[in-house]
Amino acid sequence: MSGAARRPPPELARILFGGDRVLLVSHVPPDGDGLGAGLALVRALRKRGKEAVFAAGGEVQRCLRFLARPGEMDTSPSGPPGPFDVAVSLDSASQERLGELGSLCRRSRHFLNIDHHAGNRRFADLNWVDGASPAVGEMVVRLLEDTGIPLTRETAVPLYVALVTDTGRFSYSNTGPAAHRTAAALLATGFDPSEITDRLYRSIPEPFLRLTGLAIGALRRDAGGLVAHVTLTPEMLRESGADPLDAGDVVTIPVSLEGVEVGVLFRPAPDGGGTKVSLRSRRWFSVSDLAARWGGGGHERAAGATLPHPRDRARATVLRALREALEAGEGEPS
Ligand code: AMP
Ligand code: MN
Ligand code: MN
Repeated sequence: MSGAARRPPPELARILFGGDRVLLVSHVPPDGDGLGAGLALVRALRKRGKEAVFAAGGEVQRCLRFLARPGEMDTSPSGPPGPFDVAVSLDSASQERLGELGSLCRRSRHFLNIDHHAGNRRFADLNWVDGASPAVGEMVVRLLEDTGIPLTRETAVPLYVALVTDTGRFSYSNTGPAAHRTAAALLATGFDPSEITDRLYRSIPEPFLRLTGLAIGALRRDAGGLVAHVTLTPEMLRESGADPLDAGDVVTIPVSLEGVEVGVLFRPAPDGGGTKVSLRSRRWFSVSDLAARWGGGGHERAAGATLPHPRDRARATVLRALREALEAGEGEPS
């Protein structure tokens, strides 16, 4: 990673805080990182007298909804009426992942892209990509610092959510000094982190717990035990009553099993045909390279893709590729 990416390009803050109407977006649906980074910027901009709104492109996961105050977030698929002076994509590696919001961004005068996916396609007019950052929320903390905007509790809470969710509560390999230093700066504004983790991790809806039970029943191993996978069917989603927006979280089950290097979740693609695949690895296997084969992407330890096939065929394809890569020892420490 070049040192240059550590600091935001100088024009970025000038364009962002120079516009009067600013649109913040993330991949659809947004996760804690995209939503947290977006709401923090909404608040920093509004404090400076700007009109700013976060467009989610649809509903967001229930456990994240506490973050947005009335009027801060738009959940319509095509976003709020434009035009905007500035549109900012947060935490999205490609314009495609912005869904319908992508064309709204394109129509704004300036289109900025702030992201920490190393494979970011640099699709905007000005792109700030730092693949070494643990979360876009952490990049936004640096952007505010660089611009001389002090953190307040209002901006710190969503940024803390961004950091906690993308680092797996400070547990994944992206948890380095930067993550903890940033957390310290955010906590210094004086909020109670246990209130936030109650919202995020101790508010599990019962239907999701039922889905977890079904998922454990569907847990399988492959590649001599190095891979564990779960396939969620439409019937399992229906029977449990779980919110499909929460279904992606089930991937923590296969990747948490003893002895596993790669955990995989197969589920019906949320936006219609095909199978959504979520990949997580623990120590050495790069799942982003694998996801890229099917037009997806992500990070070395967390990636996703959508295959245009029914689940049986998608699963056979992905498991075969995993077996081959693992047998070849790709990336395995000697
Ligand atoms: P998921 O399994 O969808 O939760 O994704 C895990 C990680 O991979 C997240 O950082 C996503 O932003 C990223 N990711 C998922 N799908 C894609 C994709 N199609 N292109 C690029 N990154 C993706
Ligand atoms: Mn994300
Ligand atoms: Mn992220």
